[in-house]
Amino acid sequence: MKYTSCEAIEQGIAFMHNYVTFCCNYSHEGGGFDSSPFMVYGDTKEISIDWEKYFKSKDYIREQNKTDMPYPECKGCLYLMNMNWNNDNQKLSYINFNHWKDCDTNCIYCGIKEAPGKIKIPKLYKSLKELEKKHLIEEKGMVMFGGGDIAFLPEFKDIVRLFKKYNYSFNIATSATHYVPILSELLKEGSVEIRISVDSAKEETFRKIKRTTFYNTVWNNMKRYAKVQKIPYCVRSKFIIIPNVNDSKEEIDLWLKKTKECGVKSILLDIEGGYYRKHKNSIPESIYELFEYTKDRAKEFDLYFLVFDHASQMLSENNNYLSEYYFFKDITQHKIKECITKNIENRNKSLLNKLLGKLNL
Ligand code: SF4
Ligand code: SF4
Repeated sequence: MKYTSCEAIEQGIAFMHNYVTFCCNYSHEGGGFDSSPFMVYGDTKEISIDWEKYFKSKDYIREQNKTDMPYPECKGCLYLMNMNWNNDNQKLSYINFNHWKDCDTNCIYCGIKEAPGKIKIPKLYKSLKELEKKHLIEEKGMVMFGGGDIAFLPEFKDIVRLFKKYNYSFNIATSATHYVPILSELLKEGSVEIRISVDSAKEETFRKIKRTTFYNTVWNNMKRYAKVQKIPYCVRSKFIIIPNVNDSKEEIDLWLKKTKECGVKSILLDIEGGYYRKHKNSIPESIYELFEYTKDRAKEFDLYFLVFDHASQMLSENNNYLSEYYFFKDITQHKIKECITKNIENRNKSLLNKLLGKLNL
């Protein structure tokens, strides 16, 4: 049946640090669910979900989005798409973990960071096992890890193991301050995409943004991961444009050069989310030009160029065609065909064909 919805509403769940919802998007007009979560579990040692209540809320919001008046928190979201959705079951297949804050980087733009060990990370595995017992895990879905950083998430391996049983692929953000062997294992299988926000190839700027001394460690780990990836686009070097900090062509050039030298084949460009939210209607032309510049330079470096969530929202709100370079969240092997038919069918087909050609699957 054709109606307006998104993957997260249809079959998703997002575990945030004290509430559960569908997604963690917030740069669109509706602002997402962060300020008005529909299911709060508060500070707890062990997350326990009333699944019946969750699916009821999901259905309510889903129905609302089918009308001409989208659910207020979803209004204007890039991910709402009018297409044929065929998930009549209630199973979940799009699962987002963001329920911890521990990380030993200290990015100037981070909205969630907590010093490692300061708050006890709530356990979640039991709830997932319950979901499994109720046969509510769909085969071949996708798991995303935001964070915090996965290096500090005690249940990381267990969660990965659980979803591997169901043939999932993984999409993981990591600061790369620690080498995580399981990421290499997943990269060798072609079942994970990892993104590492380096934000600069200049050590001085990196320190200013990340407020750590891990510059060499992060770039070295990126190189190590890139070396083992089975599919050449699964390690992504990410650059978040922070106006007045790293928004120069010189910074972009250095980043592209160093990324290339690391053996990484794919880049992600974004705009700092908090900045975009505050300056929605007054983004300087120079920022759009920098996107355009990066796209062209990436071609020269033979790097696969995509834009990330906030940037994509910004570009699409401004009818900028670069929004078509939107990062689609799964190019790992077993999901790619599903992606084409489901997520991408209304989007840039030529871009996708190019990618498919390169992947040679
Ligand atoms: S439409 Fe956007 S804000 Fe609403 S659930 Fe989907 S991804 Fe989240
Ligand atoms: S790496 Fe992520 S979690 Fe860590 S400080 Fe930066 S934005 Fe926050």
